[in-house]
Amino acid sequence: MKKEYDLVVVGAGPAGIMAALTAKKYNDKLRIALVDSGKSIGQKLAITGGGRCNFTNNRPIDEFFDMVVNNNKFLYSSFYGFTNEDLKDFIRGLGLDYSIESGNDQKVYIKSGRAQDLIRVLDEKIRASKIDLYLDSKVNDIGLGAEIKTVKFNNYILNSNKLLFATGGLSFPKTGSDGSVMRLLQDKGYDIVTPRPGLVPIEVKEGWSKDLAGISLKDVLVWTPIGKRKKELIGDLIFTHKGLGGPAILKISSYINNRPFDRLIYIDFLPGMTRDQIYKLAIKDRKKTILANLKGSLPNNFTKLLIQEVGRKTGLYLLGQTTANMTRDTIDLVISSIKQTSFTVKSLASIEIATITAGGISHKQINPTNMESKLHPGIYFSGEMIDVDALTGGFNLQIAFSTGYLAGRSLAEKF
Ligand SMILES: Cc1cc2nc3c(=O)[nH]c(=O)nc-3n(C[C@H](O)[C@H](O)[C@H](O)COP(=O)(O)OP(=O)(O)OC[C@H]3O[C@@H](n4cnc5c(N)ncnc54)[C@H](O)[C@@H]3O)c2cc1C
Repeated sequence: MKKEYDLVVVGAGPAGIMAALTAKKYNDKLRIALVDSGKSIGQKLAITGGGRCNFTNNRPIDEFFDMVVNNNKFLYSSFYGFTNEDLKDFIRGLGLDYSIESGNDQKVYIKSGRAQDLIRVLDEKIRASKIDLYLDSKVNDIGLGAEIKTVKFNNYILNSNKLLFATGGLSFPKTGSDGSVMRLLQDKGYDIVTPRPGLVPIEVKEGWSKDLAGISLKDVLVWTPIGKRKKELIGDLIFTHKGLGGPAILKISSYINNRPFDRLIYIDFLPGMTRDQIYKLAIKDRKKTILANLKGSLPNNFTKLLIQEVGRKTGLYLLGQTTANMTRDTIDLVISSIKQTSFTVKSLASIEIATITAGGISHKQINPTNMESKLHPGIYFSGEMIDVDALTGGFNLQIAFSTGYLAGRSLAEKF
């Protein structure tokens, strides 16, 4: 069946939904179709923030750029054109409220704690805006003609004046984002920057890390060399049966996904204390062991395994010794392992379970001021399918909504 539209949007995730709604807002005469392979809109949105939807962050928008791992300058017009404040207003306009997480992270969530509430009101708004929604409709062919653009799925051929792609990355393919449209676009001349897993746990080579599985530590300092510099950040860490996980590790993984193998990840388990301070604590009672003296500063089972490992590496018997029977040099070996232990990366977790896909359509082929293709006028992009990715904290959804807004507004104003 053939149908004619002014705009077809492929992908009903946050980027595509925002683009379609914004195009309609700026030009309500437009005939718009929104096409998605899923049985409902926003399948990935539904699982964000553990189902609570951390849709943005409460920091000033200027600080968002530091949270973007790749190609942050590309997002200048998007972030300033539709800020986190605009997104919060948009959510309120849909009849929902939001809550801001206390503490440093400043994550902003849907107040009810249910991402499904957002999906429900977005679905209602799409239908009320008279946007034609095609679900269960996997696009399997595209035409990017100068006058007429085409998408094909099931028995449909949709012709349109403008075409917007917002089909996401490759992670969590069950939510619909499987990279199929990226491959179609590659055949049409688009450069795809190799998709890589972002915000994932790290598998390490050191066997003794398995003994630590299940132990979690608060606010450790993690760093890794990147060229001549180093990337460092503070956050929580959890040891898994394969290596390292937790917020600090997920973040660092995004900086090493270009070439993860054999990279060294360094950890300072007590960044709030100097070596001297730890030393004083370690010898507080010279009749006791280091383990007993350090009780309370780190989980005891962790300190025990760390000391055991130092003992294994050096051949010294450390665990049962009172500090009176230890030299400063020997105690320093333990302190060094607290202040700097390294792990060697074996691999990153697979892209299927990654929170975000790094890589995608090269940002160099997209005009950052309006999201239009530099190769084919009338073709637009938004969201995670572009080669931009950010850290956890609501920044990736803000990218999806901001780029969707900019694309929708820019293209509507061209009619
Ligand atoms: C477990 C998890 C938790 C997350 N939590 C957060 C969070 O709390 N905060 C945050 O900021 N980010 C979070 N993210 C990241 C965030 O979900 C994504 O960055 C965001 O959904 C990207 O939006 P998008 O619209 O670009 O793509 P998507 O949401 O992936 O939407 C793309 C849509 O395109 C459709 N599609 C794909 N191919 C086709 C095709 N051939 N034909 C038709 N339709 C197609 C898909 O069905 C999908 O609905 C999380 C991700 C995961 C996996």
